[in-house]
Amino acid sequence: MNLREHRKTIKDSIRIKGIGLHSGKEVNLIAHPAPSGTGIVFEYRKGNDKASLPVELSNVVDTSNATTLGDGLHKIQTVEHIMAAIFSLGITDMILEIDAVEIPIMDGSSLPFLDAFESIGYTEFEETIDPIFVQNPLWVVDGDKYLVILPSKEWKVTYTIDFPHPLLKGQSITIDLNREVLKKEILPARTFGFLRDVEALQARGLAMGGSLDNAIVLTQDGYLNESLRYENECVRHKILDLVGDLSIAGRPIIGHYLASKAGHALDISMAKLVMSSVTGNELGKYKSRRIPLFSRKAAGV
Ligand SMILES: [Zn+2]
Repeated sequence: MNLREHRKTIKDSIRIKGIGLHSGKEVNLIAHPAPSGTGIVFEYRKGNDKASLPVELSNVVDTSNATTLGDGLHKIQTVEHIMAAIFSLGITDMILEIDAVEIPIMDGSSLPFLDAFESIGYTEFEETIDPIFVQNPLWVVDGDKYLVILPSKEWKVTYTIDFPHPLLKGQSITIDLNREVLKKEILPARTFGFLRDVEALQARGLAMGGSLDNAIVLTQDGYLNESLRYENECVRHKILDLVGDLSIAGRPIIGHYLASKAGHALDISMAKLVMSSVTGNELGKYKSRRIPLFSRKAAGV
């Protein structure tokens, strides 16, 4: 990861069509170029109803199943997969116009977003964006789940999941995360879920768009899909989620991450912890803190 990268937008507008995981209905998303300094901003437009939702940590309103942004009246859910693609490509400024409250699920990975943005090309600005190098260990813990960042010049992740299922049992991976590795090894990894959970959700009118086309569907002791993209695709997807969630901070946060069974809540808590250390703000400033959080920082970053 370079010390300093130029801000970047896409060359032209591009339409991305898909379905919403929960609604099962078509979603139209149009990505537009934006001036340097805009950041990533969702523009919700449906009829006369319009809202502008910048991708910022203070706009994260829910982390229970996916990462949701909101302003009290409007929300955009499941932003993490498109954000992982945007971050991995180094895009810093873009308007994302959308006519639904959820980002299209596509194939359950970040690959379709990556392909769309790569197909259109980029405009680089003179302005640069500075990564944050963590200077001291930082950690957030919730029961047996944790996320730690150790100071490191290289950006690296060691991620472990361990649940009683052949695909989720003792999966651990250590991987250097530069943009090329992200594109090849992480962004194609699909989301996953248990068939029994999908059925329960669908009975409640949720996950109506969920299918083998957009998730690895786990049974009691196996999976329903024809094949996996990687032997350890599930743990790789957890890293994808982590990358997407952390990108909401607006600056790359460099260090060696150690994660075990973490998820959106811990990812976002960590991003807030780092950013509050950087800006000197109090940790309690943010409005969304949905997990019982035990966190400590040895010192600022
Ligand atoms: Zn995900």
